Amino acid sequence: MATATDLRGSAQHYRMKVEFDEDVCIGMFQCVAEWDAFEKDKSAGKAILADSEEVEDGVFVREVPDDAELDAKFAARSCPVDAIAIYDDDGEQLIP
Ligand code: SF4
Repeated sequence: MATATDLRGSAQHYRMKVEFDEDVCIGMFQCVAEWDAFEKDKSAGKAILADSEEVEDGVFVREVPDDAELDAKFAARSCPVDAIAIYDDDGEQLIP
């Protein structure tokens, strides 16, 4: 069983990942209100996922810190066009 010390020691190994598809995003900015990793790019009419890596054209991925998992899930659920996907540590898609 993992102890508190183990959990702290592995704090850098975030379990959850978020994927943001900029092409799908229609700039309604619900996600911005849910998780501060999402910012408004008003000139482009798109959200920006801070500290993310562009893994393919227009698709951005980053890890979700332990203390932001709820916010990330709310952001994904708030998106009306499912531009935000959440994956667990096994790569299984949780949302949408
Ligand atoms: S809620 Fe969805 S559509 Fe709206 S800005 Fe965020 S990612 Fe884009």
